[in-house]
This record gives sequence, structure tokens and C-alpha cells, in this order.
Amino acid sequence: MAERSESDSRKLLRRLRDVLATPAKGQDRLDSITHLIADSMQTEVCSIYLFRDAETLELCATQGLKKAAVHKTRMKLGEGLVGRVARTGLPVNTADAPAEKGFRFMPETGEEIFSSFLGVPIQRVGEKLGVLVVQSKAARAFSEDEMDAIEVVAMVLAEMTELGAFAGDGMSALHRHPALFRGATGQEGAAEGRVWLHEPRVVVTNPVADDPLTEIDRIRAAVGVLRVSVDDLLEAESLDKDQKAVLEAYRMFAHSRGWLRRMEDDIQRGLSAEAAVEKEQGTARARLEQVPDAYLRERLHDLDDLSNRLLRILTGQGKDTGAEMPDNPVLVARNIGPAELLEYGRKLKGVVLEEGSVGSHAAIVARALAIPLVIHAKGITQESLNGNAILVDGDTGIVHLRPDDAVARSFRDKIAMQAEAQKRYASLRELPATTRDGATVELHMNAGLMADLPSLLGSGAEGVGLFRTELQFLIRNKMPQRAELATLYARVMDAAKGKPVAFRTLDIGSDKVLPYMKPNDEPNPAMGWRAIRVGLDKPGVLRMQLQALLRAANGRPLQVMFPFIAEFGEFQMARSHTLREIHREKSLGHTIPASIEIGAMLETPSLAYAPDAFFQLTDFISIGGNDLKQFFFAADRENERVRKRYDTLNLSFLAFLELVVARCAPFGTKLSFCGEDAGRPIEALALAAMGLRRLSMRPASIGPVKALLRRVNLGQARAVIDHARAEGHETARPALMEWLATQGD
Ligand code: PEP
Ligand code: MG
Repeated sequence: MAERSESDSRKLLRRLRDVLATPAKGQDRLDSITHLIADSMQTEVCSIYLFRDAETLELCATQGLKKAAVHKTRMKLGEGLVGRVARTGLPVNTADAPAEKGFRFMPETGEEIFSSFLGVPIQRVGEKLGVLVVQSKAARAFSEDEMDAIEVVAMVLAEMTELGAFAGDGMSALHRHPALFRGATGQEGAAEGRVWLHEPRVVVTNPVADDPLTEIDRIRAAVGVLRVSVDDLLEAESLDKDQKAVLEAYRMFAHSRGWLRRMEDDIQRGLSAEAAVEKEQGTARARLEQVPDAYLRERLHDLDDLSNRLLRILTGQGKDTGAEMPDNPVLVARNIGPAELLEYGRKLKGVVLEEGSVGSHAAIVARALAIPLVIHAKGITQESLNGNAILVDGDTGIVHLRPDDAVARSFRDKIAMQAEAQKRYASLRELPATTRDGATVELHMNAGLMADLPSLLGSGAEGVGLFRTELQFLIRNKMPQRAELATLYARVMDAAKGKPVAFRTLDIGSDKVLPYMKPNDEPNPAMGWRAIRVGLDKPGVLRMQLQALLRAANGRPLQVMFPFIAEFGEFQMARSHTLREIHREKSLGHTIPASIEIGAMLETPSLAYAPDAFFQLTDFISIGGNDLKQFFFAADRENERVRKRYDTLNLSFLAFLELVVARCAPFGTKLSFCGEDAGRPIEALALAAMGLRRLSMRPASIGPVKALLRRVNLGQARAVIDHARAEGHETARPALMEWLATQGD
């Protein structure tokens, strides 16, 4: 066969483009394309296999194989040579296909007479769409040139598929099937809406270009701009070691000569500059996905990011691709920072992330906004298109993309049931959480953003039992100023309309790292230099925060509490900082609060055994159950594997809580519990049974907790727990559940 010239390639691509430009049915287009390719490549066979679902490929068009096999022949991912190309995303080129490992004979196609086989993936930025195959009778391996040419053709097919060129007539295009994702719960609740991609992909509408010289000029200019922008980023002063290392890798890629040369070669074969970037991006992805090394795979994201930047430069499409946000948007993203999420705010109906963790800042913000959040929904950013219908089940971590009618209907039933329950809870809003035997439990809410405050009145919370001040620090990119904080805290107090707000001073370290502070490389940050430890060692920020709180109060009562107090001495020091600031404010002539209560968070078991003097001195104690539980059981709260291993209703843990209640009692020290468990009805019941009379939780939990407390006899619940203990059980849960089942509404 004669050597393929670049102009052959360009000619073929132009003919393919003409096919696309002519109005026709999807199937007819595919048929003409296989014919054109076989003709141009001088092979007897050309076939196109497309994904039917994530696991199955289907022969969708062929020139040379038996027509009857079209839409009949199917294979699983990894099955046969076609399946292998699809799975690996890498080409297979062989002179003797039947001798090749994994070959599978499909009798209905009549392919047994064709010896040589070249299959390349039809993929777009690592998204596998199908496989393009050419075969011929003569036993010969295809040349490099032919392989390059067919890969370029596959790229054009990928773009056409993406644009929906082959849809219709039972030929389902991509992004049309229903898809289900199993992730994990980030925030409970159910939502129905339309996909809004945080980073929509750039749309390439012109995969084929007529004039390679113009395209080469364009790509060179764009790469030039990219290089300058990466160099500029590297010049920025505020980079830490890790950011620098990432950007150095970017620079290496951006300046790579091989990268640009390969893209230029593809342009010579007829691709537009944009399609050449995408092709290179897709190939690099497929290669790197085979790499087991986590570090290298992380670099894959860098390369992706760089290619995306290049595409944006080329197409002039910024992050905003011009799409209109739907009315009921569900945000879909790989990951998102807290500030960005906050910017979207309450207009989002739900959030689905590929990454993230329960304790991540995005999760905290989603909770504050009361938006259902599913994390770890792997692959969803690739599968979704802006505007796709989507159902988010934050309770189970399940997401339905483009659901069929039956699924959507039953999902709506679930939403309706939840709305019904909400109505029931709303009717309890003004009523106290008093049990049948007359014990009243105060229910407060946790907050951290201004956005939380509207829930205070709506939920019926008696106050804010925990205001996490670090969120304001986390969502900024520089340290907030005192005046800024004072204004914000004053607004929080205004919004609380006289209800108490317990401001917790900055709790950073552990999982909460301020973007503008040098991260500490600690072997175990949860037990490291965090919270009050930072505050006492570097009191500048602590004092600034205390001043802001005192000014915000401006004569109103103030509650301040310090996180992660592990021993009495730490509390004494924190308290004297507070008293000193009050004194200073007074001497400056500022109005000081009408009253001030200074409290400690009990988050380490040690504090339960502090001297009596501690319980006497502290105005109140709030049990940070999230941390306390992780240290009580030595089970990392961020580690999915161990997080749920130990039950909150474990009788040792309940006994420990009872001990804290007993330590507070003689001194009348007010005690509350503000970890996540306070918002779970059964857990809340157990906490109340152990003697806690103030619980602080997410606003959405107040209704369900109140409803349960109001229908039980707390003395009986306590007897059930005691009985379980006497019986030697590990946890009180089964006994409590069984007892609850016998209680009426
Ligand atoms: C806790 O530890 O229970 C708590 C309320 O604080 P945070 O979750 O912010 O650590
Ligand atoms: Mg804590």
C-alpha cells in the first residue's frame, strides 16, 4: 500500500466534516463514515463500536462485515480485541488478529477472513465513547502513519458523537442513558434538579480545519500565552512548597517540546487546534490511567488542568461557557472550595462531588446551607451535561442522573414524605422539648456562617449553642481584620434577636488549614498543634478575635468558649486573656458586654478528670462529641474505615458522659453537647437519658429530635439503658430501639 500522505488525511477529515454538515439520520451518517474511512485507508473493513452502557459495546456501523450484525453484535468491556481497546484506551495493531491474546471470534460478523486488525479508542478527554476498527485480509501490521491517521479520525468521531451527530433511530448518543452513582452522605436530604457543572467542559464545535498553517499559528500563540501565565503564577510570592512543586510540574508540561510537536503533527493531519489539544489530553489520560503510582496519577490532573487552560485560551470560553444556570441547579464538581460553594449559596438544590470528605469545608458549608450533599460520586463530572435531570439522595449517598420516569416518580414520593414530616415538625416549633415525664431539654443550633442565622427562627432553636468562628477564616484568602470580624459578629447577634450565641474561638489545625497560614507538617494533625493550643502559643489572633467579640457585643451579653481544652491550666490562660481584653476595652472607653460567660469545650477525656476548681471556675462546658468520641475510642473521625466502628450508644461512652454530668452537678456548671450526634434522634434521647439537658445540633435536626423527645418517658429510656448495661451489652442501641418500637406516637 502506498504511504499515506498528510493530504490524504486532510481530505478524509474534510469528507467526514461534510457528512456531518449534511442533514441525515445518525445511522446513515455512521454508514457513510465507515465507507469513507475504509475507502481512504484502503482496507476491506471499517467498523464503529459505541458504548451501549458503561460496560457494553455495540457494533453500530460497518463497511465490510456482515450488515446483519449491526446493532446485534455486542461485547463486554475487556472482551476480545475491541473490548481491550475500550478498556485500556490504547490502540491494538496486529497482523494476525486470531493469534492475538484475548481474540474472540464473532461468527455473525463474518470477520474470520480478515487477518490484520487496527483498533483505536474513540475517546474524548479520557471519556470512552467507543472503538474504531479497520481490518484487512492481507496479514500486515499497519504503519505508524496509518495509526496516527486513524487516531485523528477517531478524535473527529469522538467530537461528532459528543455533538450528538449520531443520535436518533435507537442509536442512543452519549450522555443520554440514565446513570446511577453510589457515593457517600455529606449532608442528608433529597433534591431534584438540573445539573450545573462547576467547571463545564469547553465545547469544541470545529474538530476539522482546512488550513493547517493558521491552526499551527493559533496553537503556538495559545501555548505562548499559557507559558507566560504559568510563569506568572510561579512568580507569585505567597506560594508554599507544595504549590510550587505543582506549578513546576505545570511549567515542565507547558514547555515540553514533544507536547507541542505532537499537537502540530495532528493539525497537519487535518485536526483543528482545539481537537489536537483534546486528542493529546485524551491519550495522556489513557496512558497515565494505567499507572498504579498515586503521585503520577495526581500529575494527570495537572496535565488535564493545563490542557483545559489551553482550550479556554483557544476557544475564548472562560469558566463561563455562556450556559444559563437552570432554575433548580444541582452543582456537580470534582471538588469545590468553601468560598466558591458559599458564593453559589442557597440557590443550589443539591451538591454532588467526586471527592470531598464528611469533615471537608465544602461539607461544612453545605450543611450550613442545608443543601443535600453526596460525596465520592466517582465519574459523575464526565457523565453529566449541564441541564441533565438529576436526583440527589443525601441520606443514602445515591445519585440518579437522567433518571427514568419510574425512578423519578418514587423519588418525588420520598421528597413529598420529607416535606410532610417538615410540616409536622414546624407545628412543634413553638413547643418545648419536654418528655412525657416532664424533663425539658433545651435544643440549640450549630452555626458558622451568616447564612445559618435565618434558620434560628425557623427551626425553633433556643439559641446558637456553637458558632464555629473558623469558617469565616477558612473562606477567605487572607486573615480577616478585627473591624471586619466585629461587624460580622455584631450582625450574628443582631440576627439572633436576643437569643444566646456561644461563640467558639478559632479552631484551626487538624483538618482545618487556613489557606493563608503556613501549613505545619505534623504527623498527626488531629492530635497536633490545633485549636486553643495555637491560640495560647500565638495569642495575637486570639486576642484580636476576643476584641472583635467584645466590640460586637457592644453592651449586650456575650458567651465565649474555647475549643479543645485538655487541662485546667489551658482554660485559666484563655480566661485571663479574655479578662485582660475586657479590661483593655474598658480602659479605652469602649462599652463592655452586659455580662460575659466564659466556657470550655470538653473534647478530650482528660478534662473530665480536671480538678473541682475547673468545674467551679468555668461558666459552662460544651461537649464536642465529634472530637471526644474520636479520642475516647481512638478512632479518627475523618477516616471512613473506622469512623462508624464504635457506637455512640456504647455503654462505656454513655458512662463517661454520665461522669461529666456528675462532675458539673455539684457546682451548677451548665453543660451542653454540641457534636453531630446531638442531632440524631436516638442518640439525642440517650444523651438526655444520661442527664444532658442542652443539646446543640444542625437546625434541620431540631424538629426530628424534638418530636422524639416529646413522645417518650425519659426515666423509662434510662431504665432500658441501665438494664442493657446490667446485662453486659456493649451498646444500648438494640435495647433502646426495641423499646422505642413499643412506644406510641
Ligand atoms: C466537636 O468536636 O464535636 C465539635 C462540635 O467541634 P468540631 O466538629 O468543629 O471539631
Ligand atoms: Mg471539635
